[in-house]
Amino acid sequence: MTVSLPSSIQRVLVTGGAGFIGWAVVRRLLAETSVQVFNLDKCGYASDLTGIEQFGEAAVQRHQLLQVDLSDAEATAAAVRQADPDLVMHLAAESHVDRSIDGPGVFVSSNVLGTFNLLQAARAHFEQLPADRAQAFRFHHISTDEVFGSLGEQGRFSETTPYDPRSPYSASKAASDHLVSAWHHTYGLPVVLTNCSNNFGPWQFPEKLIPVVIFKAVAGEPIPLYGDGGNVRDWLYVEDHVDALLLAATQGQPGRSYCVGGYGERTNKQVVEAICTLLDQRLPQGAPHSRLITPVTDRPGHDRRYAIDPGRIEQELGWTPRHPFEQGLAATVDWYLDHLGWCQAMRQRSGWTGERQGLSAGQGRHSQ
Ligand code: NAD
Repeated sequence: MTVSLPSSIQRVLVTGGAGFIGWAVVRRLLAETSVQVFNLDKCGYASDLTGIEQFGEAAVQRHQLLQVDLSDAEATAAAVRQADPDLVMHLAAESHVDRSIDGPGVFVSSNVLGTFNLLQAARAHFEQLPADRAQAFRFHHISTDEVFGSLGEQGRFSETTPYDPRSPYSASKAASDHLVSAWHHTYGLPVVLTNCSNNFGPWQFPEKLIPVVIFKAVAGEPIPLYGDGGNVRDWLYVEDHVDALLLAATQGQPGRSYCVGGYGERTNKQVVEAICTLLDQRLPQGAPHSRLITPVTDRPGHDRRYAIDPGRIEQELGWTPRHPFEQGLAATVDWYLDHLGWCQAMRQRSGWTGERQGLSAGQGRHSQ
């Protein structure tokens, strides 16, 4: 899908634009539009802007990195004043569930306090805009399906599903969603929310399931499979998510939320096995890579199943996912095989060396 932004949007503030999904949004804005992009990011362990040069000098000139931590209210307000945005796309968040189990504090400061600070800054900005710019202004909050809790065998999440977050990560995202809705109802801030399922694709920090499996398999190391491998996620290729985000940000109705999912339900075991099969074809000397699959203790409080009904965004905004799961997965595996050096560099820079995270809740003391 080629991006077509209304002419009222000239300046876009993307938070978290040095992370996996935010960087995909920024790349699309640089490649397919002529807007000014202000990329607010604290530049944490998962951040990277490798490859920005490929968009050419003119595009790079349209991109400005604002290295700011959203938990700093004054710096956030100053960044919003500097960006003077027509559109805010708020993706910055601590995003890894396992890390949230070991260290929930930074999830509250980044995702809850950070969103509060950004909302306050956006509100001050919105209230001083001239009428025509205020009319067109949008604050788009990007969230997750994890706020809805865990499904049984049947059913799918939709915009009317009650919130029931279970992990420190999903609780912090749920809190931020509620703040965003409140700023709409109380202060009239024109917000749009999206709740998306699990994304995958290039440039994802190699601690999440799909890159971890690729990296471990290529290295000939045990591939960890949590619990019985039966937990289900609804996988969406990141570029399809970007399509949905740009549609919702520009055509979504203020105050409305949209669920985004790829009809890509797979168990973790199916995902891991599919990656092993793709690697067997590409690296036959290591086949069968499935011999490396090693069941490990489950994640504390591991939600069993997520699935999204994307009917609203399909019907109201005309979105549809373009990449079937198998196609997106093959492209992702190929990308990581071409970028193993990038994975290694990211791991070294972050200080994370591939060890298991998220076990500090203590075994046997959680309810599921
Ligand atoms: P990511 O961890 O790859 O990137 C997040 C970025 O936000 C990082 O660059 C980080 O430095 C930045 N950030 C974190 N805290 C910050 C702070 N206090 N101030 C400024 N910058 C900060 O995450 P991602 O996978 O790209 O996710 C982006 C957004 O999309 C998140 O809000 C996440 O909840 C949501 N989301 C992710 C998925 C998924 O599968 N990855 C699915 C649905 C929704």
